[in-house]
Amino acid sequence: MKIDKLPTEFIKALPIIKKIEEAGYEAYFVGGSVRDIILDHKIHDVDIATSAFPEEVKQIFPKTIDVGIEHGTVLVLFDEEQYEITTFRTESTYQDYRRPDEVTFVRSLEEDLKRRDFTMNALAMNKDGIIIDHFNGIEAIKNRVIVAVGDASERFNEDALRMMRGLRFASQLSFSIEEKTLQAIQTHHSLLSKISVERIYVEWIKLLMGESRNQGLRLFTETGCFSYCPGFKNKESELNNLLLLDDRKVIENEIIAWLLICYSLKIKDTSLLLKGWKASNRMIIAVKEGVFQLKNREVKEWQNLDLYQAGREIVSYVEQVRFIMNQSSDEKLALQLYEELAIKSIKDLSVGGKELLTYLDKTPGPWLGKTLAYLEKQVVQGNLLNEKNSLLKAAETFIKEES
Ligand code: ATP
Ligand code: MG
Repeated sequence: MKIDKLPTEFIKALPIIKKIEEAGYEAYFVGGSVRDIILDHKIHDVDIATSAFPEEVKQIFPKTIDVGIEHGTVLVLFDEEQYEITTFRTESTYQDYRRPDEVTFVRSLEEDLKRRDFTMNALAMNKDGIIIDHFNGIEAIKNRVIVAVGDASERFNEDALRMMRGLRFASQLSFSIEEKTLQAIQTHHSLLSKISVERIYVEWIKLLMGESRNQGLRLFTETGCFSYCPGFKNKESELNNLLLLDDRKVIENEIIAWLLICYSLKIKDTSLLLKGWKASNRMIIAVKEGVFQLKNREVKEWQNLDLYQAGREIVSYVEQVRFIMNQSSDEKLALQLYEELAIKSIKDLSVGGKELLTYLDKTPGPWLGKTLAYLEKQVVQGNLLNEKNSLLKAAETFIKEES
């Protein structure tokens, strides 16, 4: 197969391949980007594989960064872009089901392609657009199936993450999983327990954000993979309930994904679940707030204080989750109400602590924070204008009433 018209991302990278070849080595485009040209999908990163060893790559290009030299990867900075260039390699004797004990650099492209996960990802393309396909990857793409390279069981025993990658590709690309590959996932799903949660996390979120989310989720429960993910062991029926939702309503980002999961699975302690998944603190805080507001929205329309507390991002995501869950939702209206708030943060208040101290002629104390919080709340609720004089007077009255 020959690609006649290379996408611009590849054309830009052609000088890299040519330079490596001029130095006497082989170089090809490899992996997901080659698959994505055949599928006519948007290209995100163009990966290059070469017979040159890392030190040899570094001699060819003036600007390089060692990003994973022990795995053979050198980042080449070229023409304002950066490209990962990885030496052909084999990975021998995986004893712990996750990382190869030893990476060996080789000079053969075929050896390199053999260690890749699925046939659709084991393609290479040369500078002329000719595709090298040792494992019938093109046919798999045409038939829209995910097929392990070689013996599926062996491949999942080498690196169990590949099972989750298979499910995520099923969701992302709307492909099915070939019979033997699927059986091997069913047989070996418990090997996922050997994989770091950070690696599973990436695939899980991609699965949820895929265009065939329901297909990915169905496989996630049917193969048993779910039971080796933090917090999901007893949640099979709740996970299956997600299949009732229309997956044409696509999940657009990671926060929405976690909100949907935590809310629809009725997770009692979202922080605990997300800590189990080693999510960032930012994610934990956002999801906690979002779930709180989703529960609020079950019983009432947005109130000013809720909009203020949630912030623009969460307001938008809460409405999106409601939309996905077939609950009444109006993101545009909610955002409009948010924009109409008199202040968006306490910093927008027309008086600050200093002015209160001067005006009231008092020394600092706990009263100050309390007074500011009172003013903030009144302004957000629309009971007070955010205007200096009225705020100072309101503060005076508040303090008198408090004391
Ligand atoms: P995406 O479009 O999501 O980037 P991708 O196929 O490019 O998908 P990457 O994770 O970027 O996936 O990996 C690039 C390539 O490296 C894959 O296409 C595959 O050939 C190989 N690869 C990645 N992870 C594994 C793995 N765990 N086992 C075997 N091969 C892998
Ligand atoms: Mg990629």
